[in-house]
Amino acid sequence: MIRESFDSEFDEGDYSEDEMTGGLSGKEGISFEYSDGDFSGGDIPGHELIDWDQMFMRRALTLAQQARQEDEVPVGAVVTFGNRVVGAGWNQRESLQDPTAHAEMIAITQAAAALSSWRLEKCTLYVTLEPCPMCAGAVLQARVPRVVFGASDPKGGAVTTLYRMLDDPRFNHRSDVTSGVLADQCGAILSQFFQEKRRQGKK
Ligand SMILES: [Zn+2]
Repeated sequence: MIRESFDSEFDEGDYSEDEMTGGLSGKEGISFEYSDGDFSGGDIPGHELIDWDQMFMRRALTLAQQARQEDEVPVGAVVTFGNRVVGAGWNQRESLQDPTAHAEMIAITQAAAALSSWRLEKCTLYVTLEPCPMCAGAVLQARVPRVVFGASDPKGGAVTTLYRMLDDPRFNHRSDVTSGVLADQCGAILSQFFQEKRRQGKK
């Protein structure tokens, strides 16, 4: 049960062409079957240090592509516990006709079920687009200590753009925030989606 809240409100015009040139690279198919023994930092020639933030954001991007295939605004999210994915979702607002069916809401609900706890105190939320006020509220309710997002949302972002809900001392919880991870790819899939929609609208 997930959705995204920015279909019609989201205007691709907010992204400059430069920001959008990245497109989707071929990297999102990375597997998560890493065991501790599979990598040793940068010591072994040919092995690079794993950037976990980028790796989990690529996973979120594959979920955004799933949304796109379902003709939903393409946003994807995962919740990790340690280096394990315990929740994953993509925007399903149209298919479920549920205004709360944002990718983050679905991923958070799944993670709480997987961990049998509403407190996601050791988890990280990765999402391709800056969370809206509802999803930032869910982050606070779930006590998620860290949020990583890709593209900023100038029309609805409640983390760094319109509001700073995760960094407000008046709430009883705050989250560390990392923004801009794979922002080009995360923004490109959205702008391509809306460009397609506009083209279709002109036919
Ligand atoms: Zn949201």
